[in-house]
Amino acid sequence: MKKQRINFSKFSSIKIGEELDVSILEDCTAEHKDHYIIGSCNNILIGAQPPPLLKLSKNYDYIKIENDSLKIGAATPSGKIASFCKKNNIADFEFLSHLPGTLGGLVFMNAGLKEYEVFNNLISINTCGGNLKKEEISYGYRFTDIKTPILEADFKLRFGFDEEKLAMFKAMRSNQPSTPSAGSCFKNPEGDYAGRVIEAV
Ligand SMILES: Cc1cc2nc3c(=O)[nH]c(=O)nc-3n(C[C@H](O)[C@H](O)[C@H](O)COP(=O)(O)OP(=O)(O)OC[C@H]3O[C@@H](n4cnc5c(N)ncnc54)[C@H](O)[C@@H]3O)c2cc1C
Repeated sequence: MKKQRINFSKFSSIKIGEELDVSILEDCTAEHKDHYIIGSCNNILIGAQPPPLLKLSKNYDYIKIENDSLKIGAATPSGKIASFCKKNNIADFEFLSHLPGTLGGLVFMNAGLKEYEVFNNLISINTCGGNLKKEEISYGYRFTDIKTPILEADFKLRFGFDEEKLAMFKAMRSNQPSTPSAGSCFKNPEGDYAGRVIEAV
């Protein structure tokens, strides 16, 4: 596998880490199995002696409209997806405009803002272990049981980009720090919000 030297003190959102070699996944092979896959490191901190690291090649950075679905490569950044949806009047991805990451990381984490989550409109994913339909994946709040590199995801296509939702997500972000941060340490309890519970104490 090809390697890329990455300085994690620049690459990761928290701006901490060393310069390390990362293997680049072009095609799935047995070689990748002992590697830990990274996206754009918005939710991971890379230590000084990590397991061998793996990152998808740029070939997985694409967005295609096919019949009634949207096929997105797992290396595609969230901002690019949000811009594409705005330009093509596509609904349901507005929340990605304020959620950093690549599609692979976003799917693996079932990332989202409140009830707007990646899995809401997901049909299936293509992984190094084959194609998995949404019903075959165990997922929940910021959780999935996916155990193999995600290469592509297929979403339901619905038209009608919502500018009001975009403004709502922007407002939700307005009180958050713009400097490197480890983000929130709190997980929303079922049926409630961590923020509300903390404020209520
Ligand atoms: C300022 C800030 C605000 C944030 N706000 C939110 C928020 O509101 N809601 C929210 O849900 N998250 C939030 N996050 C977290 C982050 O946006 C998500 O976790 C996102 O999914 C991370 O994507 P990434 O590509 O950076 O993944 P990484 O951080 O690189 O990896 C995250 C996990 O995904 C796995 N992974 C990455 N790529 C793949 C792949 N191709 N196949 C299989 N597994 C893969 C990694 O192994 C790792 O376990 C925030 C982060 C920051 C820095």
